[in-house]
Amino acid sequence: MIQMKNVYKKYPNGIVALNGLNVEIDQGEFVYVVGPSGAGKSTFIKMMYREERPTSGQMFVDGIDLATLKNKKVPMLRRQMGVVFQDFKLLPRLNVYENVAFALEVIEESPSRIRERVLDVLDMVGLKHKARMFPTELSGGEAQRVSIARSIVNKPKVVIADEPTGNLDPETAWDIMNLFEKINATGTTILMATHNKEIVNTIRHRVIAIEGGLIVRDVDGGDYGYES
Ligand code: ADP
Repeated sequence: MIQMKNVYKKYPNGIVALNGLNVEIDQGEFVYVVGPSGAGKSTFIKMMYREERPTSGQMFVDGIDLATLKNKKVPMLRRQMGVVFQDFKLLPRLNVYENVAFALEVIEESPSRIRERVLDVLDMVGLKHKARMFPTELSGGEAQRVSIARSIVNKPKVVIADEPTGNLDPETAWDIMNLFEKINATGTTILMATHNKEIVNTIRHRVIAIEGGLIVRDVDGGDYGYES
């Protein structure tokens, strides 16, 4: 599903954020990305949805060559993957229903099918009853549920999440993790950067640790491995 070969990323200021990454992630895997601040985790995650482009090296997501993908094709790529952020990134002027519907690829879909799909995913995240509410009327946990609903509405093969529980209290963080587990159980690949040691050590999955722009550990069912 995801392949990186010798991926190297140097920012215009000269900082080398990724120093030759090699990784393969299969369809259906759940992978945590851990490491200290400044290690390169966000850069690694941003590569996946082409927010950043490798300076050199090769990378493929679902057969798409991201190193050479034309900018005009990036929206097409993003519709094929779900992306979830720490700060939710909901559109403030749209209600819950509209935030999810907006992300739906509408080509050749009838209005009734669109409605059905949006209500289905809102139901899955437990927010069908709040479809008409606006982002400011939601708790952090609810906002993250909406953003997760949005991320899966196009039935992507992979969901990329950058610290999705970073702004949430511990109990809400567990609820959100259960949702990711449910999504992964349907065969969706999940790639999640996190600092949440308790979660990584409890819901065991493959752990990729990045330090200084390099993968220093890659263990199935591994632990978090850092003190904080
Ligand atoms: P992490 O997510 O592990 O904290 P990042 O990928 O954000 O790490 O950062 C890796 C390194 O790249 C850091 O030294 C950071 O300062 C630098 N960096 C990140 N984004 C940029 C950018 N847009 N421009 C220049 N340097 C950056």
